[in-house]
Amino acid sequence: MTKRKERRLGKLPPQYTFILNPYAEYRFTRCPGCERKMRQRKLPLFIHIDPMKPVALNYTCRYCPDCDLLIAHQDEIEELLAALFAELDPSVIGNDYLVMGTMEHQAWRESMKRPMGIPEMLEHLHIFKEVRTVRVQPGGWYPADMDPSKLPIQEPAPLNTSWRKLAGPSDNRPGRFPKPARFPKLKRKPRKRRRKGKE
Ligand SMILES: [Zn+2]
Repeated sequence: MTKRKERRLGKLPPQYTFILNPYAEYRFTRCPGCERKMRQRKLPLFIHIDPMKPVALNYTCRYCPDCDLLIAHQDEIEELLAALFAELDPSVIGNDYLVMGTMEHQAWRESMKRPMGIPEMLEHLHIFKEVRTVRVQPGGWYPADMDPSKLPIQEPAPLNTSWRKLAGPSDNRPGRFPKPARFPKLKRKPRKRRRKGKE
């Protein structure tokens, strides 16, 4: 009878492809997609923190206009969150979190003046169109005929941010920060630069 509506968080159209950069030592001054120089764009990032603590964090992202790609550095985000929640609610520091989208500037400014409930925040949320991960292949000399899929990948080192350190000893149990929490159903497009050879 009724058409099934696509369930989506946020009332506004999705925007941006997003990468949370897990490396402290790589800053992506060039776009990992097209290798052009990245610009900057300051936006209120909408971050969900477990259990139910959404927050909008005004943050200067790297931005590639050609790929419509935003990159936020995970270590910076975690330091900002730790500083913010040291004031707001230290009990959530170290919890899992998910950067979900961006909030309209004006609504964000409003929310600085008066606290907003979650439903109201969602009215002003642009969820990300797509979320990707990034992995770095360290530079070096490799045989010219080497299969690109065989190039070594440098996995990011665990971050040592205040967000993790202030989490306290009870949070050192295994499984903490195993990986970013699941993003709600979003289709992942195949990467632009396909690797040759078998997966
Ligand atoms: Zn690009």
